[in-house]
Amino acid sequence: MNPIHFDNRYVNLGKTFYVKTSPSPVADPGLIKFNKDLAEMLGLSVTELDSNDAAALFSGNVIPDGAVPLAMAYAGHQFGHFNPQLGDGRAILLGEIISADGDSFSMQLKGSGRTFYSRDGDGRAALGPVLREYLVSEAMAKMGVPTTRALAAVTTGEPVARERLLPGGIITRIARSFIRIGTFEYYSARGDVQAVQKLADFVIEGNYPQAAEADNPYVALLQSIVDSQAVLIAKWMQLGFIHGVMNTDNMSVAGETIDYGPCAFMDAYDHDQVFSSIDRRGRYAYSNQASIGLWNLTRLAESLLPLLAENSDPAVEVAQDVLKTYVETYQNHWLAGTQTKLGLTASSDKEKQEGDKALIEDLFNIMAANNADFTLTFFHLSRLPAENDAPSSVCDSDCRNLFDEPAQFDEWATRWRKRLGQQVQSNEDRQAMMRAVNPVYIPRNHQIEAAIRAAEDDNDFSVFHDLHEVLQKPYRQQEGKDRYMQPPEAGEVVMQTFCGT
Ligand code: AMP
Ligand code: MG
Repeated sequence: MNPIHFDNRYVNLGKTFYVKTSPSPVADPGLIKFNKDLAEMLGLSVTELDSNDAAALFSGNVIPDGAVPLAMAYAGHQFGHFNPQLGDGRAILLGEIISADGDSFSMQLKGSGRTFYSRDGDGRAALGPVLREYLVSEAMAKMGVPTTRALAAVTTGEPVARERLLPGGIITRIARSFIRIGTFEYYSARGDVQAVQKLADFVIEGNYPQAAEADNPYVALLQSIVDSQAVLIAKWMQLGFIHGVMNTDNMSVAGETIDYGPCAFMDAYDHDQVFSSIDRRGRYAYSNQASIGLWNLTRLAESLLPLLAENSDPAVEVAQDVLKTYVETYQNHWLAGTQTKLGLTASSDKEKQEGDKALIEDLFNIMAANNADFTLTFFHLSRLPAENDAPSSVCDSDCRNLFDEPAQFDEWATRWRKRLGQQVQSNEDRQAMMRAVNPVYIPRNHQIEAAIRAAEDDNDFSVFHDLHEVLQKPYRQQEGKDRYMQPPEAGEVVMQTFCGT
């Protein structure tokens, strides 16, 4: 039986784009988790595989017929510094699949052994980062954020050497594209305009076919990627998500969240929060994400310059015009999304928009000053009625108690209610609209850590499975699962997360 039908497009780009590499077999693969729903969406007939066969497949010990395993070339700006050669050092592309709906997806094993691009690395992944990526990427998908998906996770039965020996794991990822901004930079830095064009044509065909109709398809491609990044980062901000390493090699041209290394969701709201242990200067702090998005897109535009116009001056002008739209697109999405989080219906009236913006910013300011939990603040707000004559009343208590000084919430809530009074909408309708965008559960760092600890220390995956299950329905409160809503106790706070190596 051939469980996966590959339609290998990337390999046809030619040799400058990759190095063919097979996954290195592992000693004793064991299936942790297989994403049946995703497999069905992709039209894979792997659902009947028994767990041994699945473990063999998703560890790379068995290569499915039709796969042409390869490591992709890419470069990237890491913390602002250009590295002309990165590439898949611990990931291997198996090929593309056409889903049941006719969309193209790429399948990759991560942690599958050394490649041409491994440099000093071992090409392997520790189990912890594999579990983290599985949990967070699937939670993101269920929250409606564009993301790579997790198809399977396996243990390898082999240790990997990090600061100490850790159990190894492999994750099978699915993406609309694994091409990064850094992939374009790789060819641009080598002055290989032909390769840049080939890559651009490939991305247009696979991800932005409408761009092919434009006068200049490459300008339309740049515009599409700018738009998709602006929308993506606005979504991150609305959920309190911090990516952690927004290097250009970790930014997908398909506008999906990719490379879940030192990422985290914030608990208490803190505008300048940084989790990553390697981000000492806070380049990728929560508050910087939108502007870093533009910085990264500027690197993309530079790589595409020769395709944007015949001569360099007009090309720069075209690039600048496109990049200029980023801020407005981002701000529009951020404002509209945050209005919805607060149950405020959007309006085209500039004055009203400014009023809402101020109301929103004031809420974030008092959340920061009062250590209010990001997710719980919006969750509890989603349950409040618009009418309430007595601030600080019982019905407000869950929400106001999140604030060190509840009176600051009361004052803000009075203004919020006044604003709600200007729109005609029942409480039920407004609350439903708010609940649809304000998650009850997010993959909180201390919960992820607990799942990793149990798996690594005691070979117990039940904590992982239970957390994963809850995150399948992030917008619905589930009986007996209140502990997953809670921020960490003082002793449980995870201060830093580490790169997924
Ligand atoms: P990251 O910061 O995790 O996105 O990785 C940056 C670069 O380092 C990429 O080229 C990775 O393929 C490479 N890399 C990270 N970890 C390893 C590893 N354990 N072995 C080989 N290459 C790695
Ligand atoms: Mg990466």
